[in-house]
Amino acid sequence: MKKKETLSFQSEVKQLLHLMIHSLYSNKEIFLRELISNASDAVDKLKFQALSKPDLYENNSNFKIQISIDKEKKLITISDNGIGMTRKEVIENLGTIAKSGTKDFIKSLNLSSNNKTEINSHLIGQFGVGFYSSFIVADKVIVKTRAAGNPIDQGVFWKSKGEGNYEIANINKELRGTEIILHIREKCKEFLDIWRIKTIISKYSEHISLPIEVKTYNEKEKKYFWEQVNKAQALWLRNKSNISENEYKEFYKQLTYDQTDPIIWSHNHVEGKQEYISLLYIPSTIPWDIRNRDYKNGLKLYVQRVFIMEDAEQLLPKYLRFIRGLIDSNDLPLNISREILQKNSIIHNMKITLTKKVLNMLMSLTKQPKKYNDFWKKYGLIFKEGPAEDIKNKNLIIKLLRFTSTFNNDAEQNISLNEYVKRMIKGQKKIYFLTSDNYLSAKNSPHLEFFNKKGIEVLLLVDHIDEWMMSYINEFEGKTFQSISKQDDSLDEFIKNKDNIIEDKIKKEFQPFLKKIQDLLGNKIKKVKLTNKLIKTPAIVTTDSNEMSTQMAKLFAAAGQETPEIKYNFELNPNHILIKKILTIKDKDYFSEFIYLLLDEAILAEKGTLEDPNQFIHRINNFLSKI
Ligand code: ADP
Ligand code: MG
Repeated sequence: MKKKETLSFQSEVKQLLHLMIHSLYSNKEIFLRELISNASDAVDKLKFQALSKPDLYENNSNFKIQISIDKEKKLITISDNGIGMTRKEVIENLGTIAKSGTKDFIKSLNLSSNNKTEINSHLIGQFGVGFYSSFIVADKVIVKTRAAGNPIDQGVFWKSKGEGNYEIANINKELRGTEIILHIREKCKEFLDIWRIKTIISKYSEHISLPIEVKTYNEKEKKYFWEQVNKAQALWLRNKSNISENEYKEFYKQLTYDQTDPIIWSHNHVEGKQEYISLLYIPSTIPWDIRNRDYKNGLKLYVQRVFIMEDAEQLLPKYLRFIRGLIDSNDLPLNISREILQKNSIIHNMKITLTKKVLNMLMSLTKQPKKYNDFWKKYGLIFKEGPAEDIKNKNLIIKLLRFTSTFNNDAEQNISLNEYVKRMIKGQKKIYFLTSDNYLSAKNSPHLEFFNKKGIEVLLLVDHIDEWMMSYINEFEGKTFQSISKQDDSLDEFIKNKDNIIEDKIKKEFQPFLKKIQDLLGNKIKKVKLTNKLIKTPAIVTTDSNEMSTQMAKLFAAAGQETPEIKYNFELNPNHILIKKILTIKDKDYFSEFIYLLLDEAILAEKGTLEDPNQFIHRINNFLSKI
């Protein structure tokens, strides 16, 4: 061994190793999945680099992963003939943690380990700390590796007990690639059993597309041979009709590290002008950071079976970023880069057809309402970015939206526009909706009184994004959308019923009263008028149809943008006892107090907040003290 030195692990690695060794009680077997996955990645990387440098193959392109067990010496050895590592790469990859997400992950583990809870083992792979999982079962790990294309004497030796440091040196290594030797802990002897190892491979690595061979003893011939234990054929290349549901699920788990079954998937061999295979899944576990629009979508890109890149986000629009899976294209150039992806017309066309595929898959999922509700609960909020982002598919997207409505007493979003339209009453031309901060404030909004009385269904929109989304949706099957907190002259037209019309007599009677209020409030409001839309409530505020709505103004404010002050219409219910009472008040100050109180109440019901809540409280207390 030459150039031997002892180096210290980065502090995060030390932490991680400590946690791995001391907190991972069950599911220790995942170490093998991690090492096989690294070996398989290493082969993918070599194939990719050899596209431009065929010499890297070193005349050996018979790719495989080999695993052998030495029961006596308590060793498991995993070797591959992939890309290998240089000395510098070994130090970087097996001594530090580069990804910032992983560091956050360790912090979160640290917390939970203090609480003596167990590490969630499937997180380990997801966060790319896979190699270190070898220390779960091994008290000493040796790595021998040589980077493809490097001379034989530039092999690298690495050894560690997973404590604070590791040893590194140069060695001769004939075969390209990496060999990992695990000295199995006494407590983990169970893994020295060949059947156990084969079972673990089938469980986690069945769909690795290169052969995984295990060194097996043939009793009859009294000698060892390499037995291939997986199919070693990429699942997506196989004929759909020969793939079982279970195989699709297992493949998904291997692809994503998610341990739960996907909600649905779609596998397609596309032929014709463009040739590609797509395998798309909707996961049932939501990644923690998916709300973020910068979240990388999980489609893997292959070109002619060669793995090209992770997270090719150009393949799907952002509002479908929850889709996981892969694409294998026959038409793309093998040397395609992320930059080229953005401008490539093949990618552009693929994105169009893939988007349609996903939308159709969702459409078919609506036939299983329980599953669709599950989907909507998890991804509805993200999907709602659709109408704004994907104008071409807007009609299809709108059909897939789900809402809360006054039809049922259910805060869950489970009503489609199709259902709504079927229930529209005679003469109804518009789809009515109300946006608000939360379900309760929407459900109890005074705006609904009239609609409830008339039996007209109203959609209740309470997600932050809703107001913004609705500004991109103009119509559904020829019916326009109408916010019921906005002025709507057509409503009177639509429900021409005696009891809805304010009689001229009353109008006349209230004329001076309205003027008095208008004079009192001045430009605090836009207009005072009577309304027949209220029953229990004395007064509400509404906005004109061309005015920004309250919810939209809140959105802008939350985003730190300046918004013009909303000028409300102040609408009074002439049948309400309070209004009738105020009508008779002669005292100017008392009248004014009453009106301000009513206005504040109406604004509070609409906005959920007041500019000066203390003044409001003061007024109420004033009134109360007079009881
Ligand atoms: P990840 O696989 O998510 O990157 P790991 O901890 O599993 O994280 O591996 C860290 C890095 O070590 C890999 O990214 C790779 O660069 C390198 N590595 C691990 N195993 C091998 C291997 N068998 N051959 C080549 N490089 C490897
Ligand atoms: Mg890995």
